[in-house]
Amino acid sequence: MDHTKILATYGPAVASSDKITKAIKAGANGFRVNCSHGTTEDFEQAVRIIRKGTGSTPYPISILFDISGPKLRLDRFDGQIRIRSGALLTLTVGHTELAKSIVGVNHPGIISSLSRKERLFIDDGAIEFEVVSTSSGKAVIRACNDGIILPGKGINLPDSNIKIPTIGPKDRRDIATAVRMDADYIALSFVRSAKDIAVARSVVKRYRGDQQIIAKLEKKEAIGHLDEILEAADGVMIARGDLGVELPSRELPQLQKKIIREANRLGKLVIVATQMLESMRFAPRPTRAEVNDVASAVFDYVDVVMLSAETASGNYPIESVATMAAVIGATERGGLQRRREMALAIKTGHDANTIARLVSRASDREDVKVIFAFTTSGSTAHLISDVCPPQPVVALTANTRAMRKLTLLRSVYPIQVKHAGTFEGMLKIVNDVCRAHKLARRGDKVIITGGAPFGSTVPTNFLMIHKVT
Ligand code: PEP
Repeated sequence: MDHTKILATYGPAVASSDKITKAIKAGANGFRVNCSHGTTEDFEQAVRIIRKGTGSTPYPISILFDISGPKLRLDRFDGQIRIRSGALLTLTVGHTELAKSIVGVNHPGIISSLSRKERLFIDDGAIEFEVVSTSSGKAVIRACNDGIILPGKGINLPDSNIKIPTIGPKDRRDIATAVRMDADYIALSFVRSAKDIAVARSVVKRYRGDQQIIAKLEKKEAIGHLDEILEAADGVMIARGDLGVELPSRELPQLQKKIIREANRLGKLVIVATQMLESMRFAPRPTRAEVNDVASAVFDYVDVVMLSAETASGNYPIESVATMAAVIGATERGGLQRRREMALAIKTGHDANTIARLVSRASDREDVKVIFAFTTSGSTAHLISDVCPPQPVVALTANTRAMRKLTLLRSVYPIQVKHAGTFEGMLKIVNDVCRAHKLARRGDKVIITGGAPFGSTVPTNFLMIHKVT
């Protein structure tokens, strides 16, 4: 039971229940359904395949719907374009003619917002262009380097402030699908401010969902509004693909550290995404630098590390998950520096907060194997995750909605149980779960937190150290 969770992107490389099962066995804790590619039917089918492959895993596997938002893209076309530095390409809307180097784009705002000498990037920054000229409905751009352009690739305009609503009609349909298919999380692309999160929440609510909202940080504007976005969202994803084009990539390391630090301080879920094991798309082993990238996120106490093309379309999807799990395991076992400031950041004044601080102290004991949190809303397990204990945190809850919130949180493994009813009932549940999940042996010590008297809905107000029987 590693502390750092793995989110694997769903795609053709894992599109069977058998592959999903293998990915879970290799260490995946959840799957991302990327709404940038496919139709509503494709997304529904993805969820069905993931659920079938999940079968009866001991802990829930989460599903995150990644809503594409105003992603600027080239249109789809047959084949590819081999481009040489200095070559010219014409962008337009609704028309592609490769023989004449004309390519369609998915939004008229792209063309109208461009001006001469401006930079334009294709494929997460792989090919840089300069705008040569614009005329009604057309823009001629010149390549600054060689490359291959594949259909549907993303476009970035770091010098423009193109105004397209963050949540468009397709995004609303995709959110409706996420709610209908009972996804756990909804990630919102190209968030600019806290207002975007509020709009997404109201759309989710309209469809009677309660999904957690994750803000994808991939725009310069979002970084300027980081505090308010962190406050409004349930979590953030550091979407380094687009962010590393919108901002010079040399600024990413400092920014990544800052976002993780702030998210941890506020107790918000934080996902590090993109190119973590990029070379494993084509090779069975990662580069040393990639191994370091994953480990660095673990050292920084992120909740989740994500795989993108590695699992969606790579040649080694299961190996990528297994490699990530192995790096996480080795890094965590090697020992992480305890983060005392995490516990101190938790405000006192609420009983559950005080208990979380006490758990932080009690978890120093090397003979404690597991922390059990009986939780109704999930918030105590969340608070305990925030203090970064060295033991896994098993959240015991009768509330399926609480499970949803906990599946990707660092260290937390939710299990659905019946209401404890009595003190003896609570100890029986803990002993049974220890045995069934092989979490601790008879005589081992575990921490239990919960709210007494039993049967009422009092917040967490006790901590005990229990010897497993
Ligand atoms: C990213 O840009 O890093 C990202 C995660 O978004 P997407 O995969 O949707 O491009």
